[in-house]
Amino acid sequence: MTLRYSMLLGLVALALAGSVVWAEKDQRPNILFVFSDDHGYQALSCYGSKVNQTPNLDRIAKEGMRFDRCFVTNSICGPSRAVILTGKYSHLNGFVHNGNKFNGQQQTVSKLLQSAGYQTAVIGKWHLSTDPTGFDYWHILQGQGPYYNPAMDTADGVVKHTGYTTEIITDLALDWLKNKRDTDKPFLLMYQHKAPHRNWQPGPKQLNNYDDVTIPEPETLFDDYSHRASPARNQEMTVERHLTPNDLKLVPQRGLTDEQKKAWDEAYDPKNEEFEKANLTGDDLIRWKYQRYAKDYLRCVDSVDENVGRVLDYLDETGLADNTVVIYSSDQGWYLGEHGWFDKRWMYEESFRTPLMVRWPGKVKPGSVSDAMVMNLDFPELFLEIAGAPIPSDMQGRSFKQVLMGETPSDWRKSVYYHYYEFPGAHSVAKHYGVRTERYKLIHYYELNEWELFDLEKDPNELNSVYDEADYAAVKSQMEAELERLRDQYKDDGSVVQFDQPNANKKKRKRA
Ligand code: CA
Repeated sequence: MTLRYSMLLGLVALALAGSVVWAEKDQRPNILFVFSDDHGYQALSCYGSKVNQTPNLDRIAKEGMRFDRCFVTNSICGPSRAVILTGKYSHLNGFVHNGNKFNGQQQTVSKLLQSAGYQTAVIGKWHLSTDPTGFDYWHILQGQGPYYNPAMDTADGVVKHTGYTTEIITDLALDWLKNKRDTDKPFLLMYQHKAPHRNWQPGPKQLNNYDDVTIPEPETLFDDYSHRASPARNQEMTVERHLTPNDLKLVPQRGLTDEQKKAWDEAYDPKNEEFEKANLTGDDLIRWKYQRYAKDYLRCVDSVDENVGRVLDYLDETGLADNTVVIYSSDQGWYLGEHGWFDKRWMYEESFRTPLMVRWPGKVKPGSVSDAMVMNLDFPELFLEIAGAPIPSDMQGRSFKQVLMGETPSDWRKSVYYHYYEFPGAHSVAKHYGVRTERYKLIHYYELNEWELFDLEKDPNELNSVYDEADYAAVKSQMEAELERLRDQYKDDGSVVQFDQPNANKKKRKRA
């Protein structure tokens, strides 16, 4: 065969392949990424919750796969979102703690999917300070966003909404699916809730949920933080001392309409009277605060569950469900009273682990469970592989599509690296990095040069560090070596990338 002839054949083949692609509707799967903020796996019935039921979210697990070991790289809101957009650890995407501004000029999964022919949208909580890039449509809360009556940013200006934010974000997501997207293209929709983030203001429909029940207390509600390094004792996130009167709804809530305020007054005033009459102290007061806090948190989860159900129903009714990968996760886990805490940040399991359920009809076996160690760092690589788009070599995670198919690769990761930065800062959790393997966890509070080592098999609640125990000397050196290996692999030498124009993609805007 002459060179010219073979080139000609090649061109004909390319043209044919091209005509096949363009003549038919693009059949690549849609990706619906459902994201909540601070939703711990302990508050999902598909994870065996002892405190609530989440029938709609459970559907994703029942019809897909539940991951029992999904970890985050840095357990806090903004940083987790930046990791999911970039597939890079915080020190390489530049967003190491809340208050940073995300550099939208860098490579993101939304831009890569857009170039690959996907339509992209983000609706709800964004929390990265600068404007979204790589999205055809965005309608986002300003900063943290309120639970009621949010003003939201769009490319066309600010839109003021009245109502409950979880419901509004859902209405906007449904409106985009029904009326705003290009139905010839596959989509990535990031549908992201503010709930159940502090200060846990329930929606009007959920104000009286759990009124007549007592929420079971976690085993470690009265943790005394002995047998660990000093940071666990020195934090400021206890149910006992750090929930504010505003958190506990002992003062009037701001930003409500008259009608909303009326419903709130009816729901909360009688409870306040009971509290004042009881005049509680000591453990009884902690128990009361825990009930008050946990119930409001769970009421917020109830609304997320109900609203995700509305979106799942819409996918079913329209037949979109068949070709849509539905992913549910949270930006990190959460302390629902475990260790006596609320909030997140630590490398301890409750906040280091995050829920992850994935439904992909015809591909993922319904009701399957994986204990493979996956991470939020892997999400963008998974999105790209689902779309059949190339995965850039500078992304640091790995697509877990094969894990989803029930075929975990033999060389899948056996350890996870973590790095938390926000100190000094809210809740006073010391900076730390560490490594977790199947059985052990090593944590280094490096500014204090204090260490913890946990044997998760013998001590799943992480109450007793064995770092100084002679029996664990060999484990300790193995874990220290693994920590160094991972710091090297992820290029974490303690420095943080600096961008030339960190704030270039934030515009001032007027009301739309
Ligand atoms: Ca969060």
